[in-house]
Amino acid sequence: MSQEDPAVDDRPSPGHRREAPPGRNGPARPAHRAAPGQETDGPAAAGAPRAGASFHEMWRDLAPIGRDTSTNGYRRYAWTQADTDCRTWFEEQARDRGLGYEVDRNGNQWAWLGDPMAGDAVVTGSHLDSVPDGGAFDGPLGVVSSFAALDELRARGARPVKPLAVVNFGDEEGARFGLACVGSRLTAGQLTREQAHALRDADGVSLPRAMERAGYDPDAIGPDPERLARVGAFVELHIEQGRALAARSGGGSAAAGAPVGVASAIWPHGRWRFDFHGEANHAGTTRIEDRRDPMLTYANTVLAARKKARLAGALATFGKVSVEPNGVNAIASLVRGWLDSRAADEETLAELVGEIERAAVERGRRDGVDVRVTRESFTPVVEFAHGLRDRLSGLLGGVPVLPTGAGHDAGILSASVPTAMLFVRNPTGVSHSPAETAAEDDCLAGVAALAEVLEGLACH
Ligand SMILES: [Zn+2]
Repeated sequence: MSQEDPAVDDRPSPGHRREAPPGRNGPARPAHRAAPGQETDGPAAAGAPRAGASFHEMWRDLAPIGRDTSTNGYRRYAWTQADTDCRTWFEEQARDRGLGYEVDRNGNQWAWLGDPMAGDAVVTGSHLDSVPDGGAFDGPLGVVSSFAALDELRARGARPVKPLAVVNFGDEEGARFGLACVGSRLTAGQLTREQAHALRDADGVSLPRAMERAGYDPDAIGPDPERLARVGAFVELHIEQGRALAARSGGGSAAAGAPVGVASAIWPHGRWRFDFHGEANHAGTTRIEDRRDPMLTYANTVLAARKKARLAGALATFGKVSVEPNGVNAIASLVRGWLDSRAADEETLAELVGEIERAAVERGRRDGVDVRVTRESFTPVVEFAHGLRDRLSGLLGGVPVLPTGAGHDAGILSASVPTAMLFVRNPTGVSHSPAETAAEDDCLAGVAALAEVLEGLACH
């Protein structure tokens, strides 16, 4: 083992930065510090311990990057300037701590404490990109907590016997190119170079062109099994995207708090496009009984989806719709609605989507509307490694174990590496919105839990 002494000063002056191992993708980055932001909606530190202080400092530096001042939401889309600024921030965090910094062939960033080639590495991290007008916590909480947990281990004088790494996976949200988890999918071999090269953003810019503009080599991308073979465990900390932990600690019993939980599984989920074909006509002259109005069928399908999902204990959402010709005084000729549906198991999900489709077709018959359904994507259930999950739960004194309906890089990696997730309580459950928030104490509890887990996995 060629571990660095974890007790050494982890904040060398910028003039004494260590040379990092050569990256396999990406340009040399100029030293750059994010402009100090105004005080933000992030957790504030007051007399906090070392991990808390470093958490607060990182949060403050990252907060202004990519924030839209009109909505207060984040627009950190893959390979844009805001993304580049986040990535520069990550590199600085690595270098300032004397960690080995590298970018892998798919543009994911890694910060290493110890020898990346030694194998059986314990890796933690998340992502820094966002959905349109996303919140401050989804992604960054995991990355910031990972660095803070390393700081905590070093402050304790913990001595890892395995390499430790913090990772920032690229393009997790898929906000720009429409496919989530591109960085981890490529690495895990779940997305080919050809498929990735075919992705286009709304302006017609291809993924390879966008990578090139940001200074990366799009021809280098592809599966990276050797890298994943050197990872013994991956743990992703994430803000909970729901209220399971908050609900658990509610009910009038203030003592029964659960700021942190361990993930059991990610629900299977998918997207289906519903095409409702009717007949365009004049809104003012076409008799009601002569209409073939696809909007009517669509509206009934939305209601049916909601009712059937509730009865199945599952989720079904029409969140995107397009209308042709989209005129106020015209009966539509075509309505396209996109269904996002998720359930605890694949059978329930398949039954639910089948029922929604049948309801749409039956209603369409009454309305003279033709309905076609196309599955655009599907992600099977992810059961996180039971051994690792139980070990984490044990290390953390039996914290709650709960499933989630949201996809994550951890879900992608779980097919290749023993993977686990920690969730930090979200008091409102709101996510993918500027209103997303977490209490400072809960964030620091997350850091403490992650430090505990990393010590348990890497130091014994
Ligand atoms: Zn996320």
